[in-house]
Amino acid sequence: MRRVLQKVGKYRKVKVIRNRESRIVRDINHNISKKIVDIAAQTSSGIKLEKLDGIRKSRKRGRRFNGTLHSWSFYQLQNFLQYKSRLRGIPIVFVEPRNTSKECSRCGSEGTRRGKSFVCPRGHVDHADANAGFNIALRPGIGQSIVDRDAMEGNTDIPRGATL
Ligand SMILES: [Zn+2]
Repeated sequence: MRRVLQKVGKYRKVKVIRNRESRIVRDINHNISKKIVDIAAQTSSGIKLEKLDGIRKSRKRGRRFNGTLHSWSFYQLQNFLQYKSRLRGIPIVFVEPRNTSKECSRCGSEGTRRGKSFVCPRGHVDHADANAGFNIALRPGIGQSIVDRDAMEGNTDIPRGATL
């Protein structure tokens, strides 16, 4: 709708819609981040996120990126998660995003994505986002020692036999 209005020069209307979108996404991001931080608190867990380069850059580029809901909304979610977890003393770390969606979280093989599923050549099938999530959980955070990583593995919910 915004794109159509933009084309015909209805900029005020575009702005109204954009502001409404921003408020809706902001609410959603507040809810999601609150839930994630609540779960982390209840389970004495930390939070790991992919360090997404594009997200940092998109903020600098500013207005040009306002058209894409995606980049700024994830950046906002990341910010909300950071400040909410800090307020509650929950550790939050970032991992390298490389191949988190390509590797099998159980055996490390390179798998393929079919729709929403991740399929490992060695048989493991999972929701693609869940598989990527497990990979993120298993990775050491940037600047995090291997010892810390091992200590956190206890919280990943992955059956140990399955990962080995
Ligand atoms: Zn596998």
